[in-house]
Amino acid sequence: MAVDATQAYDDQNIFARILRGEIPARKVYEDDWALAFHDINPQAPTHVLVIPKGAYVSWDDFSEHASEAEIAGFVRAVGHVARDAGLVAPGYRLLANTGTDSHQEVPHLHVHVFAGRPLGPMLVR
Ligand code: 5GP
Repeated sequence: MAVDATQAYDDQNIFARILRGEIPARKVYEDDWALAFHDINPQAPTHVLVIPKGAYVSWDDFSEHASEAEIAGFVRAVGHVARDAGLVAPGYRLLANTGTDSHQEVPHLHVHVFAGRPLGPMLVR
């Protein structure tokens, strides 16, 4: 079911459980601010999710309530993930679904990193 971007944070969401180590994930990067792991249902040859360690429902919640350090740390972590995977030269796409119309499914902010083939048009028309 799609996430209402205005809902309160649910600490039982699947990514909160991955952060706590209660559910396994194929990790690719971790620092003080962020964790990155492979999507369980990849939609491109490379499909990594980067999540902040703080409890934020969505991009909206994060951009309004996170500290400057959390925001800087998270944005830099996304960059690290892409560079470490060699994605800069071939190119990659970032996506952060937010709320109902975007079909956000997991109510913990995540940025999708897609790469590994020409990714086609930005959206289905
Ligand atoms: P959203 O639609 O919220 O932007 O994307 C959620 C993503 O999380 C989907 O691409 C889905 O495949 C992925 N996902 C859902 N549950 C799990 C899980 O337990 N582990 C991992 N690694 N990915 C998950």
